[in-house]
Amino acid sequence: MTEKGFTIDFGSSEPASTPVAAPVADVAATTSHSKLMIFGSGPAGLTAAIYAARAQLEPTLLAGYEPGGQLMLTSEVENFPGFPEGINGPDLMAKMIAQAERFGTQIVNQDVERVDLSKRPFRAWSAGREFTADAVVIATGASAIWLSLESETRLRGRGVSSCATCDGFFFKGEEVAVVGGGDTALEEALFLTRFATKVHLLVRRDTFRGSKIMVARAQAHEKIQIHFNREVVEVIGEKKTEALKLKDTVSGATEQLAVGGLFVAIGHKPNTEMLGGALPVDAAGYLQVKEHSSASAIDGVFIAGDVHDHRYRQAVTAAGDGCRAALDAERWLAEHAV
Ligand code: NAP
Repeated sequence: MTEKGFTIDFGSSEPASTPVAAPVADVAATTSHSKLMIFGSGPAGLTAAIYAARAQLEPTLLAGYEPGGQLMLTSEVENFPGFPEGINGPDLMAKMIAQAERFGTQIVNQDVERVDLSKRPFRAWSAGREFTADAVVIATGASAIWLSLESETRLRGRGVSSCATCDGFFFKGEEVAVVGGGDTALEEALFLTRFATKVHLLVRRDTFRGSKIMVARAQAHEKIQIHFNREVVEVIGEKKTEALKLKDTVSGATEQLAVGGLFVAIGHKPNTEMLGGALPVDAAGYLQVKEHSSASAIDGVFIAGDVHDHRYRQAVTAAGDGCRAALDAERWLAEHAV
């Protein structure tokens, strides 16, 4: 439970053996100042916190009401270096939280609601409190867009996933489906052919949104079957995904498709609402960094992880990004003598 009584939804068939419940900071005053504040508690934010705390910056990390980011929705993580047997996503995040706290990070389990980055000190507001800092790292991540079906939510981590790189391996020898017609869906479908016996690509219109080259690759792949004009209306299964109920968007007819997995690849949404347009974004809404650094358009504000990176989107790349942002912030603070 967090301060607001929010229960963390692990969203996984195998809940964490170590529950992640970052302690609620005991901040009595309504305003607290730190040299560095970090927004976001996925691998990027927590790695930034580990580095900044070891540099004795005593960072404040606004972790959100659901600390841990997207890995909280993953069961087994097998590609994070250092864990040859794999590690449960929530367990990995619990370790990162413990490591950040060990060196003096103050973790506050609250969402950032609003910021003022127009002058220093930078300010952020959350649940009636004001947080100020000389420098900021924004690592609020991106959230997968889901189909918004009750059955999809119930079976998340039980055959329903938004990340083929993370979970594809678990579907060896099975038939799976990917929903979406963009580059992400095409890429996920192609990746899944390594494990699945057959990949059904479900496209809601009669055409793709993705690039020609990716479409051509998917069309040419013997394991990929493309179904145009198909919408998923239900994920069928009690404890795990067993089939999908599909609707033909032209005729309205419904059919059942037996699959062990459903990969939802209809896009990601970078979490930038709280910034209120304070920083420039690209066409897809992702924050932009200056080349070869984590610097944003605002001096003293740094960016890390999926909130700017829609290319790699891996825990390990986000963690590396968090390291870069902390090092950039540390140098910036030293140069500006604050
Ligand atoms: P996207 O290009 O926005 O495509 C989203 C797809 O999901 C579209 O086909 C859309 O259908 C479909 N969709 C949306 N909502 C749906 C729903 N409720 N039910 C069923 N289908 C739904 O998103 P993306 O594929 O994640 O790509 C995002 C950006 O990253 C793009 O610019 C892409 O090129 C880029 N990207 C690049 C690479 C690469 O270069 N290797 C890889 C991945 C992504 P409609 O077309 O009908 O709207």
